[in-house]
Amino acid sequence: MGELVNRFSYSPSQGTMFRSCPRQYWFSRYGSWEGWERDAPVLNREAYRLKKLSNRYLWTGNRVHETLRGVLEAFRKGAIPEPARVREQLLETLRKDFRDSRENPRGTLAPKGKVVLIEHDDPSQAITDAEWRPIVDRALDSVSGFFRSEAFRIIRECGPGSLVRNDSELESMTATAGDYPFPVFVTIDAAIDTPDGLLILDWKTGKPDRSDGHAKQLGLYALFAQKVLNVPPERIRFAPVYLAYTPEMLSVEAVTPGLLETVASEIAREAGNILSRIDDPDRGEARMERFPVTDNPSACRNCSFQSLCTEKPLRKTRR
Ligand code: SF4
Repeated sequence: MGELVNRFSYSPSQGTMFRSCPRQYWFSRYGSWEGWERDAPVLNREAYRLKKLSNRYLWTGNRVHETLRGVLEAFRKGAIPEPARVREQLLETLRKDFRDSRENPRGTLAPKGKVVLIEHDDPSQAITDAEWRPIVDRALDSVSGFFRSEAFRIIRECGPGSLVRNDSELESMTATAGDYPFPVFVTIDAAIDTPDGLLILDWKTGKPDRSDGHAKQLGLYALFAQKVLNVPPERIRFAPVYLAYTPEMLSVEAVTPGLLETVASEIAREAGNILSRIDDPDRGEARMERFPVTDNPSACRNCSFQSLCTEKPLRKTRR
């Protein structure tokens, strides 16, 4: 096997992490690199271990996505699973994950294929039983919401053959910052071939986003559809699906060439900003001190690297 190289790449989640806290991005992309090696420095080993932890939001969100992928795979083969059974299976999976996570010895690497939650691993991030309950309820509500969603009605109407993407492939396209080319990775939750063109859907388990955050993310998927799937912009539309809150509503937005240009230039700008801090993007060399910590303490709330971070901003205490 050739040497594994930590070459620069970009994805929407990495962009979000960098915006939230450049130091967190560094821990995730550079501090954890080669942390799987037995003789790796302590910091790299611990950063790698922490990177492998999940948290309650990521965990339930991933399990919901996985569940919907299974439902749509079954639909593709001509069957629609019973919603109550799908909810039950998700609940069983979540219960098993929870037990596995709680029983994993603190401070040890998550066994392959097992979920270990930071809320169990780090006592300072533990939450009460009363706080776990709504997280699990929301995951189950998301699945129920999917079955009565406008998005699923459209998918059924268009038929099993219309499903172009089903959250199963990590794909890439090439972008450039200055004259530096790099891969941009995307995973599209669902894309359907409709009579009006390609409809890109994004499953959301959280509350409806009133900012234009989803437009940027879905705009990136639209750019991918144009560049890699060769769909003309006027034939691409997109919509977030708020599964647990407003699944019956679907706010479909048309893609314009202007949006695609904006998204492409934002990727170039943000990647350029990250690249300006990296010593050697081809060899994966980047120094921690060039990635400052955030000055917003609330950004630390769901950060896996809190126990390694010696410069995190202090929360203001009320007098
Ligand atoms: S603990 Fe806070 S400051 Fe430190 S890496 Fe995480 S988000 Fe950044």
